[in-house]
Amino acid sequence: MNRVRVLLLNAALGPLDYRVPDGMRVEPGSIVMAPLGPRKLPGVVWETESFPVEEIDPKKLRPLLEVRDVPPLRPPLRRLIEWTAAYYFASPASVLRMVLSSGAAFADNRAISEYRLNGTVPERITPQRQLALEKLVDTQGTVSELAFKAGVSVAVIRGLEKLGVFDREDVSPFAATANPSPDFGTVDLSDDQQNVSNILMEAVRASQFKPFLLDGVTGSGKTEVYFEAIAEALRQDKQVLVLLPEIALTEPFLNRFGMRFGAEPLAWHSGMKQSDRKKNWRALAEGNAKVIVGARSALFLPYANLGLIVVDEAHETSFKQEDGVRYHARDVAVMRGLYEQIPVILASATPAIESRHQVEQGNYELLELPARFGGATMPDIEALDLTEDVPPRGNWLAPTLVAALEENLERGEQSLLFLNRRGFAPLTLCRTCGHRIDCPNCTAWMVEHRLTRRLACHHCGHVMPIPEKCPECGDEDSLVACGPGVERICDEVKMLFPQARTAIVTSDTIWSPQRAADFVNQMEAGAIDIVVGTQLVTKGYHFPNLTLVGVVDADIGLEGGDLRAAERSFQQIAQVAGRAGRAEKPGRVYVQTRMPNAPVIQALIKNDREGFYAAEIEARRQALAPPFARWAAIIVSSEDNKEAMETARLIGQTAPKLDGFSVYGPAPAPLSMLRGRHRHRLLVHALRSVDLQNIMRDWLEKLEWPRAVRVGVDVDPYSFV
Ligand SMILES: [Zn+2]
Ligand SMILES: [Zn+2]
Repeated sequence: MNRVRVLLLNAALGPLDYRVPDGMRVEPGSIVMAPLGPRKLPGVVWETESFPVEEIDPKKLRPLLEVRDVPPLRPPLRRLIEWTAAYYFASPASVLRMVLSSGAAFADNRAISEYRLNGTVPERITPQRQLALEKLVDTQGTVSELAFKAGVSVAVIRGLEKLGVFDREDVSPFAATANPSPDFGTVDLSDDQQNVSNILMEAVRASQFKPFLLDGVTGSGKTEVYFEAIAEALRQDKQVLVLLPEIALTEPFLNRFGMRFGAEPLAWHSGMKQSDRKKNWRALAEGNAKVIVGARSALFLPYANLGLIVVDEAHETSFKQEDGVRYHARDVAVMRGLYEQIPVILASATPAIESRHQVEQGNYELLELPARFGGATMPDIEALDLTEDVPPRGNWLAPTLVAALEENLERGEQSLLFLNRRGFAPLTLCRTCGHRIDCPNCTAWMVEHRLTRRLACHHCGHVMPIPEKCPECGDEDSLVACGPGVERICDEVKMLFPQARTAIVTSDTIWSPQRAADFVNQMEAGAIDIVVGTQLVTKGYHFPNLTLVGVVDADIGLEGGDLRAAERSFQQIAQVAGRAGRAEKPGRVYVQTRMPNAPVIQALIKNDREGFYAAEIEARRQALAPPFARWAAIIVSSEDNKEAMETARLIGQTAPKLDGFSVYGPAPAPLSMLRGRHRHRLLVHALRSVDLQNIMRDWLEKLEWPRAVRVGVDVDPYSFV
């Protein structure tokens, strides 16, 4: 092969052809460096059939510069890149960027030189050299590490090295970590768990594509069950990917995993050090690491020999990426399973309606774990009608809930208050003139964060100090915080129970796996009495002494009114209720609401999950809403509102008129300004029999709009703002 097609890491370009110089060996999947103008870019050699390009004279082709010494990307991953790009209207290069996200991993694989004193004493000793010789006994490290340890300059260490006082060892930067062992921990499964894990283990041995929906109430032991499938994959010497919806959940997962398998899996998330990303990327590509637990981006890693994918808490909407390539990790996981020909387990206590629909269609196999494990019972859920059980003025907790908190404190048991609102107050108003403090870049309120003493926009990240006087009328002390966030609820708890030890759990306080671990340790040590938290505390955690859960405002989630509002509220409240009474002690759950008769609340208090799902699914079927048909959103934005509006109108006017394909809008987006850009939306509705992607591609590709206008397509949208 002396001519190859290369997909370069440049989203603006399609694939390009290059000449392979004499003596260079490449194959499809090889990671190469190629010239582009005066620059040098990484890229991947692709099959010629995948991306047709214009033929040009072979003599004009530029030669590839070099092939990287890493395993080529395997065909299943290359097919996944093509599928993701086509399905979600992304450029193949922007999907490839997620695969090659650790540039350092394939940039070089030179060994690192480390040094250690060998007993030689140089003839001329300076005070600096003396210091280094004393401090570095029994130490091995790179030149800069040794300089740091000894508190001397790098030049001093290099000088000593030239005098022969060190022995050198070249170590690979890609040393693999200890691998988990399938039979390390003892397992004690119930009959239900054993039956389900047998089915999963069989599927792993069969090495065929097969999606499972593992459905079990919180506390039914889903993790133990899919651990058995992981063990089986390890026995087959295969790799396993476990996807979790939040980094904060990684730490408790790692602990449980370590107990079962005797070693921790590798981790993959955005908060990792570059050097760790590099090591882990490499270890997976070379097959030296067996299990990885990660955020959605771990889906696009170059596994050498993947045998199983587990998506835990698979209903979580945080698996949907909302910027860049707008993919849904749960759906891409199933596609990766298809291309790799392996089983995929979607685990959830409150499955997404989309996943249940796949079961009904016969595409996924349903595996149920009905009972709570170890005799624990589901907690009783009781609605507190806020119009009758009225909190005192300026407070947010109903008297019944306060009394229950007090009882729990006296018994030495832990309580959790759930409110899905970060910060102190969602809105700041001027009492004098009614002015409301908005974000200057977005159609959104600035949220008060009292702990960090500032106002923040949760959409664009803009922050400002809390003003002392009203920016509009100039009145002093006229600004009032309206409504509660978790910080305000925590203040209320401290006023009511000054002796209680409290903790706030949100993405503002638990922003790293380490912080999550600290929180878990404190809970387990009994150092916290009352936790106030956002959706971050609704899942994954297992605290035996947590026996009371209070949902501060069950009506919040229903306000948005989008397609999934009721489903999401049900899932969130059922999940947070599931935190209560997970061991021998029974749990109690109070749900504060102004609408105790709303179907969601009724389903929760009657523990009627099936009834709720049946009604929701029927409503969607009637409305021909997803999953019974498909949606795609078109988001048009520009700093110039007129340009954005005209482009949106042009898109609307040129919409194809086809059976089973309709376009609604354009209309200004609910979040009509975001990061200084004006936004307009259209919604495409298509029957499942229609080829949505092809129709939209034909339609949008013919249109032209000003350069400063951005047109984004969001297939299967979850966000409607
Ligand atoms: Zn004012
Ligand atoms: Zn903003």
